[in-house]
Amino acid sequence: MTKIADIVLPQGYRPSEEEAYMEPRQRAFFHRLLAEWKKQLLEEATKTVSVMTEEKAAFADPADRATLETDRNFELRTRDRERKLISKIERTMEAIEANDYGYCEECGVEIGLRRLEARPVTDQCISCKTRAENREKVVRSYEDE
Ligand SMILES: [Zn+2]
Repeated sequence: MTKIADIVLPQGYRPSEEEAYMEPRQRAFFHRLLAEWKKQLLEEATKTVSVMTEEKAAFADPADRATLETDRNFELRTRDRERKLISKIERTMEAIEANDYGYCEECGVEIGLRRLEARPVTDQCISCKTRAENREKVVRSYEDE
């Protein structure tokens, strides 16, 4: 079996409906898309850390420290979300390598190229996703009462 990394993609390649769904080039395309996304997230995370350190040095009085603390909590929550996203990206890349990508985990239909391009880590087709979101809304409205 050809390794994803060995697959050569033509310049400006974009998966097309004309091709067989999830043929090797398509998998290589999404694998690279995810690798690039992960790289960007990691670069942003590094920037966040250095900004946080610089700000800490700049502020001394208690009011500023409180603001800084709020900012810091916000940053930490953001980074926590980023970490989760990165691990999701990694799991998705593994699924691509295992040729287990592009199908809805609920109902098994093809998720579709355009939806995957817009959201490469998605593991549900649009109708299952919509159903799941509606279920969540119902649960939340019960909790609000
Ligand atoms: Zn589905």
